[in-house]
Amino acid sequence: MRVYNFSPGPAVLPQEVLEQAREELLDWRGTGMSVMEMSHRGKAFISIAEAAEADLRELLAIPSNYKVLFLQGGAMAQFAGVAMNLSNKDSVVDYVNTGAWSKKAIGEAKQYAKVNVAADAGEPYASIPAFASWNRSADAAYLHYTPNETIGGVEFHYVPDVGNVPLVADMSSTILSRPIDVSKFGLIYAGAQKNIGPAGLTLVIVRDDLLGKARPETPSFMNYAQMAKEGSMLNTPPTFAWYLSGLVFQWLKKNGGLKAMGERNRAKAELLYNAIDGSGFYRNPVAKDARSWMNVPFTLAKPELDKTFTTEAKSAGLVTLEGHRSVGGMRASIYNAMPVEGVKALVDFMNDFARKHG
Ligand code: PMP
Repeated sequence: MRVYNFSPGPAVLPQEVLEQAREELLDWRGTGMSVMEMSHRGKAFISIAEAAEADLRELLAIPSNYKVLFLQGGAMAQFAGVAMNLSNKDSVVDYVNTGAWSKKAIGEAKQYAKVNVAADAGEPYASIPAFASWNRSADAAYLHYTPNETIGGVEFHYVPDVGNVPLVADMSSTILSRPIDVSKFGLIYAGAQKNIGPAGLTLVIVRDDLLGKARPETPSFMNYAQMAKEGSMLNTPPTFAWYLSGLVFQWLKKNGGLKAMGERNRAKAELLYNAIDGSGFYRNPVAKDARSWMNVPFTLAKPELDKTFTTEAKSAGLVTLEGHRSVGGMRASIYNAMPVEGVKALVDFMNDFARKHG
């Protein structure tokens, strides 16, 4: 039996996608082998790879002057990759700190360039500093921010306008959750294991004019220009993750694309936040204009009941609700593949639990 899995990542995938993968597992379309067993340079895999990129480009309406790279190493590799490709050691690079992942990105960037923290929400990371108060550098090589903080559940509901400075976004936990205007960004990166597909794949979407500036010591497999030139196949790409992500892109297209996803995600989030706010028992600490549609942390009025909550939730088929080990409490991650029925089941359970224990 499938459970409702609220994991922050690796996270729930659409059931139809898993069923299709199961169907195709032993023999992908008459090739007599699984996608895992194919050469990445063979005709079959090249067709899979190209279709996935075309579908992603269509979903996000990616302009033709952007390259899409299918890389390995996770989003964390890009904490260094961005700095190595877009700055030199004397560059000033602007970072906005809105949570644990921004902070990690900043820590990594400090090894490579002069980091100016243009804005810092400060712990416990429950809001976004007003854009007008950001202390930006006119000559920054780029400005980096984290549109959705997976741990704190803090999300930007606008795209900062930083003028001519290339805007770099770690979209790991929000990409594909709604339409975005890619042309506002210099570079977008995202680990796959939340809203794209399985772990092992990292997407980089980068504007052409930012290519070719990498430091000489940049490892080839992290060099965007080299990877772009080789179609992300300078070395062996994460083939199965690429394939499965392609199935997710098809599923998104079949389900109305990102506009429909955005409406669904907004409705799911509203349902859950309304239940929390109206309960008198649960609490979400994040400023209302910065609440995430994807990751919803909440605490119980009686933290001593945390264990009971997760145990009873599990019996009701609702799993992985524990908050991040650094913050405790609960967190429900409700990515694209979490159906509204799952959120409704969670809300019903939470209401019952509060009635019983409140
Ligand atoms: N950035 C964000 C916003 C994340 O949520 C995560 C993973 N949870 C990372 C970066 C790190 O990603 P990875 O594990 O793919 O390196």
